Amino acid sequence: MHAKNDNQAMTNFIYNMIKEDVEKGALGDKCVHTRFPPEPNGYLHIGHARAILLNFKLARIFNGKFNLRFDDTNPIKEEQEFVDSIMEDIRWLGADWEDRLFFSSDYFDVKYEFALRLIKAGRAYVCDLNQEEIREYRGTLTEPGTESPYRNRSIEENLDLFERMRKGEFPDGSRVLRAKIDMTSGNLNMRDPVIYRILHTAHHRTGDKWCIYPMYDFDHPFSDAHEGITHSLCSIEYTDHRPLYDWIVDNAMELYPEVVKYRSRQTEFARLDLTYTVMSKRKLRRLVEEKYVQGWNDPRMPTIAGMRRRGFTPAAIADFQERVGVSRADSIADLALLEHCIRQELETTAPRLMAVLDPVKVVITNWPEGESEMMEMENIPGDESAGTREVPFSGELYIERDDFMEDPPKKFFRLAPGREVRLKGAYIIKCEEVIKDSQGIVSELRCTYDPQTRSGNDTSGKKVKGVIHWVSTGYATRVKVNLYDKLFTIEQPEEERDIDFINNINPQSLVVCENVPVEPAVEEVFPGSRFQFLRKGYFYYDPVASEEGMPAFNRIVALKDSWAKVKNKG
Ligand code: ATP
Ligand code: MG
Repeated sequence: MHAKNDNQAMTNFIYNMIKEDVEKGALGDKCVHTRFPPEPNGYLHIGHARAILLNFKLARIFNGKFNLRFDDTNPIKEEQEFVDSIMEDIRWLGADWEDRLFFSSDYFDVKYEFALRLIKAGRAYVCDLNQEEIREYRGTLTEPGTESPYRNRSIEENLDLFERMRKGEFPDGSRVLRAKIDMTSGNLNMRDPVIYRILHTAHHRTGDKWCIYPMYDFDHPFSDAHEGITHSLCSIEYTDHRPLYDWIVDNAMELYPEVVKYRSRQTEFARLDLTYTVMSKRKLRRLVEEKYVQGWNDPRMPTIAGMRRRGFTPAAIADFQERVGVSRADSIADLALLEHCIRQELETTAPRLMAVLDPVKVVITNWPEGESEMMEMENIPGDESAGTREVPFSGELYIERDDFMEDPPKKFFRLAPGREVRLKGAYIIKCEEVIKDSQGIVSELRCTYDPQTRSGNDTSGKKVKGVIHWVSTGYATRVKVNLYDKLFTIEQPEEERDIDFINNINPQSLVVCENVPVEPAVEEVFPGSRFQFLRKGYFYYDPVASEEGMPAFNRIVALKDSWAKVKNKG
């Protein structure tokens, strides 16, 4: 993890709350203990990173413990693929659960026993109403609920029915186990919530052992208390579930104290949202399944796996989370801030290379035929320790097509007929002749160079304003470049309720450049490394998209930093 964050105290309300708990000895002999509870039904996204880093860092700051617990109580949507990807992503972010990897399903036996004890205490009952009836009986925010006709079954009957539910005697949906709390409660979650349902579906870990599965609101608080989680941090939508959370934990402590390690308490924080993207797993799944992107790890996705393949670093993500902070108020973080964080890191760490994404050929007519010269260039400007490299210069080069204009406006300082420009780290050239193909498209620029203008040894006294990058044709290595841009064209693609968010997809979110010439130093770099292609942005050598003989480079972010400008103005 980012070194600068290591011993830094946080300044959010959760940190303050825990600090106070620790200082007044509220935890007894327990240490601070947090957890991250993902449901393995999709890939993690940048919003999850907030929860992961918050839980992990709080545990570390207070010398406590951090658990990873898969919330795998719904066998229908869960898959091993997601379990694996989630662990890989959390590790990559730098959050370490040490030897505390757990699954909610690990506790199915104790949870079943807890349910039995609730029944025996008269605090849970088997209900035969179907889902729709349960909803009708529940009432509304303004009307109290109606008690189920099955609410006053005897304890014996409940025990018998629940046992037979477990044995598989009843079909899906025919019966549920409900907590007996209060049908008139002002909080709908307290109106006899369902705590177990019948599902004849194999589970990815427990196989066919169970055909009844606990509901989240029952499962989660119990698992927290069972693991001894002191501070159960979750996103804001669980606020109304907190009284039920407390009810479950308090009942577990009373009825089944031997398996409870702590009276866990829940605290909510706002979800992280990001401009120009969608964050809900349901929408991300749609993008994948309907093939608007190439998979969960498509570099345009806000998933951790996608961001890793785009070339983001764990440090930049942590820096971003830190700058955004954590509060209880919903807000949408600016994508530009995230981009600012990665730019800032790469500015001083990413070596420079020259690549020409949209090439046009330059022939230097007064260059000695067949000769070449090595130009020494800094790998990272201003950082001598990063060393230099040799870049071969010759009489035939590529430059970017848009660095030339046939009929330029006055303020255009790059190449144009009769004008001069400096080739980065090399010579000043002058455009003498423009050659076009039969379609009228420029196919070659015939130029002369001034031998007195060699960079670092310029005796000509010439002043030119423009400096452009180039690659020698005879020494070019070819690569594939993926130019990524925002996945959606508007800041909040989900906002307009009657318009499908798919309509807001940016058709230019991926532009592929094939056979891009790059200076030969690129052959010495490894997959997984990051560069600046001079003037073109920061790029990541993508191990996944690369093919034998054709490395692929993803643009992480362009160079221009609009965020810094906005901030300076303000
Ligand atoms: P989604 O709504 O994207 O499907 P989820 O809440 O269903 O997410 P879980 O796997 O249940 O996904 O989430 C695990 C944990 O991550 C939960 O504690 C949840 O509160 C937290 N979390 C999910 N999304 C965000 C977010 N955008 N910002 C902060 N925390 C989040
Ligand atoms: Mg969830």
